[in-house]
Amino acid sequence: MKGSKTIIYVDMDHVLCDYEEAWARQKALFPDLEFPQSQPGMYIGMNPLPGAIDTYRWLNDHPNSDVYILTAPSVYNSHCYSEKRDWVEKYLGLSVVKNLIITPHKNLNEGHYLIDDMASGKGQDRFKGSLILFGSKKFPDWTSVHTFFEEALTPDGSSAKVGQWDSFFNSDVGVTEDFGLDQQDRDWLNMKPAGREIPD
Ligand SMILES: [Mg+2]
Repeated sequence: MKGSKTIIYVDMDHVLCDYEEAWARQKALFPDLEFPQSQPGMYIGMNPLPGAIDTYRWLNDHPNSDVYILTAPSVYNSHCYSEKRDWVEKYLGLSVVKNLIITPHKNLNEGHYLIDDMASGKGQDRFKGSLILFGSKKFPDWTSVHTFFEEALTPDGSSAKVGQWDSFFNSDVGVTEDFGLDQQDRDWLNMKPAGREIPD
């Protein structure tokens, strides 16, 4: 890939943001709804996952990287788009909002790395760079991601040090269950009209 900087994409739900905890809180507020994320407030109310903000800032400030947020929307929930944007400003600042990409087709973005908790579903499997599968054995948390990029972003990181990872990136080893897939897809595919009604 051309260009001197390493292009890194970072997912939001289950990677930067604690979707699971926020969904449980939203479900408690709207216990009768099968899809409580259909009500405004959940996406902006998500807490950052441990280490996410510090490591994002470190990656973003690194002289050898270009970092973007690459997140798929919940297309039935229009507030999802604006709340994701507001979440980024709240925790990372307006400069990072300018690097926020909301798309269900992640494969259309060119880059070297995609940090995502899902191996497929929104184009991740067709992304031409390397997938850092967040939540997998190799990358269970932000500490492990930070450690990886300490090597990958050194001037010789593309050769010797990172070479040892080639076999991992080019195989299915380490791919785990997509724990976010069920939730996201039910939201997308089976949303019932009743679940979208907003109470008075
Ligand atoms: Mg995700």
